[in-house]
Amino acid sequence: MPGTDPSFAVLRKPAAEAAAANLADYERERARFSWEAARAALHVPGKPFNIAGIVLDRHVEAGRGGQVAARFVERDWRRRDVSYSELQRLSSRFATLLQTLDPAGDGRVFSLLGRCPQLHVTALGTLRAGRVFCPLFTAFGPEPIQTRLTLGAARVLVTTSSLYARKVAALRPLLPALQHVILVTDGTPAPQGTLAWHEALAGDGGVCTPASTTADIPALLHFTSGTTGQPKGVVLPHDTVVAHHATARYALDLRDQDRIWCTADPGWVTGLAYGVLAPLACGATSIVDTEEFDPRRWYRLLAEERVTVWYTAPTAVRMLMKAGTGLARETALPELRFLASVGEPLNPEAVTWGVEAFGRPFHDNWWQTETGAIMVANYAAEPVKPGSMGRPVPGVDAAILLRTGEGGVAPVESPDAVGELALRAGWPSMFRGYLGQEAKYRACFVDGWYLTGDLARRDADGYYWFVGRKDDVIKSAGHLISPFEVESALLAHPAVAQAGVIGLPDAVAHELVKAFVELKPGFDATEALRRELLAHARRRLGAAVAPRDVAFVASLPRTRSGKIMRRVLKARELGLPEGDLSTLEGAA
Ligand code: ATP
Ligand code: MG
Repeated sequence: MPGTDPSFAVLRKPAAEAAAANLADYERERARFSWEAARAALHVPGKPFNIAGIVLDRHVEAGRGGQVAARFVERDWRRRDVSYSELQRLSSRFATLLQTLDPAGDGRVFSLLGRCPQLHVTALGTLRAGRVFCPLFTAFGPEPIQTRLTLGAARVLVTTSSLYARKVAALRPLLPALQHVILVTDGTPAPQGTLAWHEALAGDGGVCTPASTTADIPALLHFTSGTTGQPKGVVLPHDTVVAHHATARYALDLRDQDRIWCTADPGWVTGLAYGVLAPLACGATSIVDTEEFDPRRWYRLLAEERVTVWYTAPTAVRMLMKAGTGLARETALPELRFLASVGEPLNPEAVTWGVEAFGRPFHDNWWQTETGAIMVANYAAEPVKPGSMGRPVPGVDAAILLRTGEGGVAPVESPDAVGELALRAGWPSMFRGYLGQEAKYRACFVDGWYLTGDLARRDADGYYWFVGRKDDVIKSAGHLISPFEVESALLAHPAVAQAGVIGLPDAVAHELVKAFVELKPGFDATEALRRELLAHARRRLGAAVAPRDVAFVASLPRTRSGKIMRRVLKARELGLPEGDLSTLEGAA
């Protein structure tokens, strides 16, 4: 088990750094924390409970309007800064525009935009107007765009003229609910049936007071990654901002004036939560790279933007490892203070590679679109156990449960026993529904617990270890095998860059473990290496858990948010239909 692997010692923190962290004493903070107090610290009684008011107006009114809210780094390294007060004014204009275009006030607003200032303005303007905002990822083709716009009954869409021409124009007759399309243009006139952003938002009407929303009113709609099946539309309320603020402070150690770079695209929940909203809630500056992944570019950006908090994903970390530790070490990053990762299991090597390359470990944390914010984390002041997701954030009660035959749940008390990761319902950013799937939503809650669909175990110190998604866990010859554990063992071999592990049906053992491996540059996919990997896995995992077969692939099927799609590996292997591929990287 990764938790007991002696090669990964617990990583402790220097005392002075730990004392300076936001969460210097985990137990004490947990004991004294309450969501009521966290909410009261952000919200002035009598004012609307509105995300835009809380993340923008609160700072401007306190005299912090001049601070840079977001800095956009263009392909040619030009920078564009947007201050808190500018964002307040621009989002006010967008809110006013919405009130004019759609006076009834209940239409959802979608964006199909890259990482640009207009996305921030659209999100915050929509929230200011009290409407629901839903970001879409620009790499989607017309079909996934149509599905999501239809499911969400989008009334307003903000996109660019080029994306509109390529992906949306032909769909318009199929989208009767879509009444207004606003286009960010390069100066060319907007086509018929659309409005040009620069014209629609011209003028300055001052600050538009946030709509009188309350904490429970829906604010955000996010589609899940579609790793296990069809993406689900997750509804989050305005209260989510309370969890964004608390978790950014605790789990990302975010402080006023920090420069945080969250590498996730705002088309996914992580990018909007920790790339746009949480930094604003904390009064920090968000660094936004408008370009795609490139190791040299990333290191230059970390250095030149003096990033202090860096929040990324395991795939990115492993791609950086693939590019070599030397490259990382060439870059001086004296101000980089905290490294974190989310979205997939972070294998122990990736955690400790942080120390090798940057002098600091990556801190894994866990959450889902449904939880709206980070729920389980490794903290700046606390020891890191490489391979563990950490412990629940203050205000969140987690447990390992098993569903009982009678429709209830029972706790798994003994340390290290596997069960379903569950959270006690009631934290502020808890989702309030799956769009159009009420029964599915209700089925997630049993006896006051939200069951996450992920299997995990908790060790004697209270640290949680990811085992796998309920659907992905492999049952072989009476053993419950975690694909993550097998992938981690393979990733410990110097030739392996990425690994994906599935169970294949077997008449005798029920399932047999098969691994798919992407190699690091300089290694050839030879039979000798295949045998070596099999032996390596057997040595580390034992014969019962080790893969029976290893296949080399040029690249693993991944979601656009960077997760390995094991269901696609499995379908391909078995010659079965591949299911919903709308979020598959590289799909049209
Ligand atoms: P879908 O629900 O459509 O199948 P998805 O679950 O991948 O897609 P997200 O909400 O983006 O959609 O991802 C949340 C899931 O990602 C978690 O339930 C968990 O399985 C995985 N995950 C997130 N963080 C971690 C982590 N630190 N370690 C292991 N797994 C993680
Ligand atoms: Mg999910």
